[in-house]
Amino acid sequence: MQAVIDKIIQETDSVKRFFLKPKSDQEFRFLPGQFITIRLQDSERSYSIANPPNDSGLIELCIVLNPGGKVTPLLWKMEPGNTIEISEALGSMVLPETWEKDFCFICTGTGVAPFRSMIGHLLKSGKLKHNVYLVFGNRYDKDILYKAEFEAWDMQYERFHFIPVLSREEDAKRKGYVHAVYEEIFTDKRDAHFYVCGWEAMCKEARHRLKAMGYNRKQYTFEQYDG
Ligand SMILES: Cc1cc2nc3c(=O)[nH]c(=O)nc-3n(C[C@H](O)[C@H](O)[C@H](O)COP(=O)(O)OP(=O)(O)OC[C@H]3O[C@@H](n4cnc5c(N)ncnc54)[C@H](O)[C@@H]3O)c2cc1C
Repeated sequence: MQAVIDKIIQETDSVKRFFLKPKSDQEFRFLPGQFITIRLQDSERSYSIANPPNDSGLIELCIVLNPGGKVTPLLWKMEPGNTIEISEALGSMVLPETWEKDFCFICTGTGVAPFRSMIGHLLKSGKLKHNVYLVFGNRYDKDILYKAEFEAWDMQYERFHFIPVLSREEDAKRKGYVHAVYEEIFTDKRDAHFYVCGWEAMCKEARHRLKAMGYNRKQYTFEQYDG
């Protein structure tokens, strides 16, 4: 299907938000957490949908430039009004039907995209009875995507806990990596569902640590951006 680029926002030095309007007679349907693929010059790449289902008809992508890559440099040349080829919504990293335990979302960089969609959906449903943690790793404070929005949600919703972790910021409130944070929150090993999204090294480490904490395969879901 074709989609028109409606708007592009340069979010940080290396990340852009793309707002796409699918050209279809029917409504573009997706579940929070799903992704689409983009086809550009015979290459295909997947991108998580970063906004929750909404009435605008727009889908939002949050993409980091890989300067030596094949597709992102082409996307960086795109402008509003251009048309691209996209797939329908794909992927099985979605929310369960019932929400009966804490959710812990663990990510780095643009790995936050599907979680913004899922958490936005959870919070706005008004049905949340358990805690939702977003443990979000970045190098510097300036790299934190959607920072103002997550901080506002943290203030507004008692059950939402936004926990940024910075690996290189000198005076960070929490310095280091995501792993020590969820290990600390869940020291009691209470029942929870963990969602992990990002690049290979972080996902691998999280899988190893969650297993060591005693959580089983049904309690965590991964979306790995590479490999
Ligand atoms: C299900 C799914 C959802 C995805 N969602 C997003 C998303 O929402 N936002 C997003 O930015 N990307 C996302 N990706 C990654 C995306 O599909 C591309 O891999 C990425 O944009 C690089 O494409 P490229 O053609 O520019 O680079 P390629 O030519 O594919 O890059 C070559 C190599 O660089 C590595 N690489 C590229 N970028 C990085 C990086 N930032 N850190 C570490 N290694 C990297 C790749 O692993 C690959 O080995 C997703 C991937 C999957 C599988």
